[in-house]
Amino acid sequence: MILTLVEHRNGKVDEVSLELLTFAKKLNQKLNTKIGAVILSHQTKECASTFTQLAIDEVIVAEAPAFQTYTPELYADVLKKLVQSKNPKAFLFPHTPLGTDLAPKLAASLNGGALAECTGFEFESEKPVFTRPVYNGKLQAKVTLESSPLILTMERGAFKKYEEKGQATLIPIACDVSHIQPRYKSLGFREAQKTSVDITKAKIIVSGGRGIGKKENFQLIKDLAQALGAEYAASRPVVDNEWAERDRQVGSSGKVVSPTLYIACGISGAIQHIAGMKKSSVIVAINKDPEAPIFNIATYGIVGDLFKILPIMIEEARKLKHG
Ligand SMILES: Cc1cc2nc3c(=O)[nH]c(=O)nc-3n(C[C@H](O)[C@H](O)[C@H](O)COP(=O)(O)OP(=O)(O)OC[C@H]3O[C@@H](n4cnc5c(N)ncnc54)[C@H](O)[C@@H]3O)c2cc1C
Repeated sequence: MILTLVEHRNGKVDEVSLELLTFAKKLNQKLNTKIGAVILSHQTKECASTFTQLAIDEVIVAEAPAFQTYTPELYADVLKKLVQSKNPKAFLFPHTPLGTDLAPKLAASLNGGALAECTGFEFESEKPVFTRPVYNGKLQAKVTLESSPLILTMERGAFKKYEEKGQATLIPIACDVSHIQPRYKSLGFREAQKTSVDITKAKIIVSGGRGIGKKENFQLIKDLAQALGAEYAASRPVVDNEWAERDRQVGSSGKVVSPTLYIACGISGAIQHIAGMKKSSVIVAINKDPEAPIFNIATYGIVGDLFKILPIMIEEARKLKHG
């Protein structure tokens, strides 16, 4: 069996849980086993209905009042017992704060290893070899896991949402966690502050990456955005360098946007960035490197120096605006 952990909040399923199922399905092309989605919650009904309608085998639900918020010891205890009873070949977690906390905890309790931030895999001699970014995405490492089950976290956006309809069996499992004294107590959640700009609603986005070079040059991105009546956005290094505001970051640790037009300027196309903009209807990429991965998903690609291309685009856009 391949198990996947469902991440949810207030009854709403995080999309990454559906991406995990696509990962599981692909892995299962060679592992040839069953697939089960695991839900831990104080109210499993709402989440479970999303998964029982999918073409997977089982939806395993553990319901207890203690699961209202994430408590590592309780979650790990239930999952350890589940692994011991189901003996899965793999247990996949989303690469979220919860997943990155829980997966290694579970692996350690089983004396095994865990692999974090997996973005893909291929089989070599019947063995899955996983890919994960290292050095902030500059290199991709190929890694095998020698312990069983394979426990790993998957990067958001690495796979498409699983949508194949079917009928999965609902399996409630016993989960008495009253004997465990948690050493961690969740004191509640604070919603992120609403800011003045919401790039997720923008129809056109002009986004700048590290290729822009320095803060002053970012004005070119703002100028093109203004000329097109668009919002401006940025990749993470740009935000980390404080060339643009954090609420304008696109990507797995920023905002997920889906405008009609996304213009990526000097952005290489790392998977964490693509996770945040791949649903854009039309993607225009400007990059001086013809091998930049952003061109793999671009609708239109312009290979060239953005410092030559952007001024021309700004001028043409202004002409159009002013008739
Ligand atoms: C846990 C984690 C979460 C992350 N979350 C995010 C996230 O939410 N969003 C995000 O964006 N990244 C995120 N990252 C970082 C990500 O891995 C990449 O490092 C980042 O996206 C690269 O940003 P970039 O494309 O702007 O820079 P680079 O990868 O450095 O690319 C710059 C590009 O500009 C091009 N260029 C340079 N000069 C010019 C020029 N004159 N004209 C045209 N092109 C030029 C280069 O050819 C290059 O392709 C995350 C990483 C980790 C590990």
